[in-house]
Amino acid sequence: MDIEVKPAVATSGVLQQMELMDHEQVVFCNDKASGLRAIIGIHNTTLGPALGGTRMWHYAKHEDAVLDVLRLSRGMTFKASIAGLNLGGGKAVIIGDSRTMKSEALLRRFGKFVESLNGKYITAEDVGMSTKDMEQIHTETGHVTGLPEYLGGSGDPSPVTAYGVYMGMKASAKHVYGSDKLTGKKVVVQGAGNVGRYLIQHLVEEGAEVMVADIFEDRLKEVKAVAPQAKVIDPESVFTESMDIFAPCALGGILNDHTIPLLTCAIVAGGANNQLQDETKHGAMLMDRGMAYAPDFLINSGGLINVYGEIVGYNKEVAMKKAEFIYDITRNIHKESAETLVFSGQVAVRFAQERIQSMAQLRTRS
Ligand code: NAD
Repeated sequence: MDIEVKPAVATSGVLQQMELMDHEQVVFCNDKASGLRAIIGIHNTTLGPALGGTRMWHYAKHEDAVLDVLRLSRGMTFKASIAGLNLGGGKAVIIGDSRTMKSEALLRRFGKFVESLNGKYITAEDVGMSTKDMEQIHTETGHVTGLPEYLGGSGDPSPVTAYGVYMGMKASAKHVYGSDKLTGKKVVVQGAGNVGRYLIQHLVEEGAEVMVADIFEDRLKEVKAVAPQAKVIDPESVFTESMDIFAPCALGGILNDHTIPLLTCAIVAGGANNQLQDETKHGAMLMDRGMAYAPDFLINSGGLINVYGEIVGYNKEVAMKKAEFIYDITRNIHKESAETLVFSGQVAVRFAQERIQSMAQLRTRS
């Protein structure tokens, strides 16, 4: 059979991007029999093995998947560092619709690819994946976290993630309003998934006025079952609603040239990774509009804190307590941002990089 060999443009593009974003390694996985097409991105392993979830998503183009894994794995490096964990940054994406293409064979084949990296990358769940899926992957590799509790794992990390997001939101409210009370505050939550649902429960308990949007009816029903006070709004209107706080809890890149001018909120604080399409440009746009942005990789680090427990010894209370520190770190970042007029996202990256650099120096000295 003749195989058409395409010019290596795509490969050199990935290498260039890796160089630009400072990635250590990117692994492409392909298995025709199960339909698996996956990419594992390892950004930095200075602090420890690269731990990060696997996302299954129907990307329009392969380039979108590559860019996603590169951005997500870099974010994991900063997240682990700022949360004080001894972990590096990694992430994986499986290309395909998780609702129709996921199978035991596909997940187990993916597990084999993870195993081939000998622990340099440890996986966990992300969008389109569940603890049940981690169990299937675990059949082929021990380098997996976010396992169900009956397998000795920490279970679904989303409650801890959502609690950290809630802490980051409260710290941002303290910075903006002088009080961290969210009672009566209008909060728009984009995405009624795992994180969105638990976050909404905290918010309605505190008496916030919650509006929620999702592209899937069943996810909205799950939210209404636990928080009937939440008002369902159209996904198209999440940016234009009158609100105090915007909580992106769906996918990344949603703070961009088109959406930021539509927002009238005082605070952006949500669980989604990589909310800013362009960190520099869109960070500056948020600042110019006087919006307080709670850095996504910091306030959503609760999930990572939770799964890290599976490596060092799991205790849910300890994980929740550690996630509570997100409040203090967010406060410090907002304060420094206000004093130096540097965007909060950049302040957070600097905090994270400083720890990585000092640990790298410690290693070279010892
Ligand atoms: P999920 O798949 O359970 O939920 C995401 C929800 O967003 C889905 O219900 C989906 O239908 C919805 N959605 C997608 N596009 C949308 C749109 N345009 N408008 C409205 N809704 C839309 O995923 P999750 O676990 O809740 O994660 C949400 C975000 O938080 C992701 O960016 C993820 O990377 C990040 N995150 C999750 C965790 C965790 O512990 N689960 C930890 C850290 C970061």
